[in-house]
Amino acid sequence: MASYKLSGGCACGNFRYEFNGELAMAAHCHCRDCQRSSGTGSTAVFATNRSNYKFTGKTNSYKFTGDSEKIIERFFCPNCGSPLFSYAEVLPDLIFARIASLDEPSHIKPTMHIYCDSSQVWDRPNDHLAKFGKMPS
Ligand SMILES: [Zn+2]
Ligand SMILES: [Zn+2]
Repeated sequence: MASYKLSGGCACGNFRYEFNGELAMAAHCHCRDCQRSSGTGSTAVFATNRSNYKFTGKTNSYKFTGDSEKIIERFFCPNCGSPLFSYAEVLPDLIFARIASLDEPSHIKPTMHIYCDSSQVWDRPNDHLAKFGKMPS
């Protein structure tokens, strides 16, 4: 996959990040947690190795059991509430962040839909991208 050098942050500017390296994946995620934490049917996320990612600013977090049945820790801005990134116990080397938090969100395009099993009737994936009921194996 191509290498990227991109930056982004939360809505209020408290939190900023940069990452420099290759993507592990970019997907539309239809899991229930993305739905709850965004208030939408799906979110566009990218994953990169934790070592590629640097951030500044205060964060707050909570932990929960994800659809994988493993722990996920989700970080958000304590000032504006923007979702920032998450760690999944099942994929410990990766950091997941929302594509729309990039300064130039058009630079990363999702290549698949994941957790389609929990997609909502009003937001079913109906484009040409690959679709997976949960995570691709
Ligand atoms: Zn903020
Ligand atoms: Zn999700």
